[in-house]
Amino acid sequence: MSSPRDAEISIVGGGAIGCAVAYYLAKEGYRDIQLLERSDIASQTTAQAAGLVGQVRSTKERTLLAMESVQTFSGLLQATGVNPDWTQTGSLRLSLNSSRDEEFIALEKVASSVGLEVQFLSKNQLENLFPYVKSQRVTSALWCPSDGYLQPNSLTNAYLSGARTLGVTVATHCAVQGIELKNGAVNAIKTDQGRISTSMVINCAGPWAREIAMMVGLDLPIVPLRHEYFITEDVKGWNPLLPVLRIPDIRLYVRAELSSILCGGWEAEASSLPLSNPSSTSMTPETDYGVLSQFHTDLSSVISDIDDIGIRSIMKGYPTFTPDGRFIIGPARSPKGFIVAAGCNAHGVSGSAGIAKHVVESISDSPSSYVLSLSPTRFENQVINNQELERRARSHYENYYSNSLLPPS
Ligand SMILES: Cc1cc2nc3c(=O)[nH]c(=O)nc-3n(C[C@H](O)[C@H](O)[C@H](O)COP(=O)(O)OP(=O)(O)OC[C@H]3O[C@@H](n4cnc5c(N)ncnc54)[C@H](O)[C@@H]3O)c2cc1C
Repeated sequence: MSSPRDAEISIVGGGAIGCAVAYYLAKEGYRDIQLLERSDIASQTTAQAAGLVGQVRSTKERTLLAMESVQTFSGLLQATGVNPDWTQTGSLRLSLNSSRDEEFIALEKVASSVGLEVQFLSKNQLENLFPYVKSQRVTSALWCPSDGYLQPNSLTNAYLSGARTLGVTVATHCAVQGIELKNGAVNAIKTDQGRISTSMVINCAGPWAREIAMMVGLDLPIVPLRHEYFITEDVKGWNPLLPVLRIPDIRLYVRAELSSILCGGWEAEASSLPLSNPSSTSMTPETDYGVLSQFHTDLSSVISDIDDIGIRSIMKGYPTFTPDGRFIIGPARSPKGFIVAAGCNAHGVSGSAGIAKHVVESISDSPSSYVLSLSPTRFENQVINNQELERRARSHYENYYSNSLLPPS
């Protein structure tokens, strides 16, 4: 445990987002930065993530953000000396229904327009790349060779190593309990280890970001929604270099975890925590075996020879979703010095580098119109009660793989 100190910039939360923001700020020349984490680094939502990194998105801006992440992951070992365990396997988006073809074509167009290499594969090419898919079920396969996956805790180690080298300090087991304002601006943080003078707070508290925002009277519209995946026993032939699969028609994603299968999915009916009662305590959901068993059944319909495969472990948590399915990044109008980096819509690991870059841009003199459009101020004139907030956020979760043709995110 390291002790907290006064600091010009205070980052609250040491998950993928907080660590990435610390690294990017320091890289951009900001100094006197401290990261505060109530528990251990990357011990909460980030620890549960599957680590999938996909760049094929429905808008140019989101694709560019994801491409920024991939570029960063590819250079992190050299830049920081710590390996983020980034494995560039490529990814396959599989359609099981020709009615989805139009969506895949639209995705391909967006990717090509910003220089992301993607390609439709023939059945033979698909079988060569992924022999375990029941290819007769696949109507269309979109291949992105630069996608892959990483290990979330290796990624945060790399970010923090880079940040520390540039002077960032980290205080773990230090819980933020309140934020003190002076003349409408952030002035200090109250923690369980004492008061810290600071003039900027960056809220990277994941599912607790709403709670942190409430400390300055800001109602941040984010909803933690349950998400889970399983890892099977070893399966013959599976190896870490197999491409990542996304299969929207059965709402599943799949990758190899060494010689096992990692499979997660987007439930048809999302499950959230009661928003009326924000809690500082556990954000670990109960395992829903019914949901996981349905994932397994659906997976068996597309992957050969896994009907009887056993489950070795289950990972779960509460990634946050927003009412419009977009990140919330940038300074609040009030108080001055309060910055938000939250509402990651389950992209907080893969998008961490791109999000951090946008956070830095949001506090610069000339943020782009896209970065400004992610600002928390966009909710100022909207009255969204908890029930409506949940409804909208759940809809983004439930349609996670069907949003490709919806308006910009
Ligand atoms: C099962 C599962 C699979 C997922 N798979 C993927 C994936 O494949 N790819 C992907 O990109 N994303 C994935 N996600 C989503 C991803 O995990 C999140 O978007 C990401 O981890 C969010 O990071 P974060 O830093 O915002 O939050 P967190 O990792 O939760 O970090 C927030 C931190 O804030 C700290 N904190 C909270 N309150 C306080 C306080 N008062 N004082 C001090 N510290 C505080 C917490 O202790 C915590 O460490 C998955 C999520 C789950 C649950």
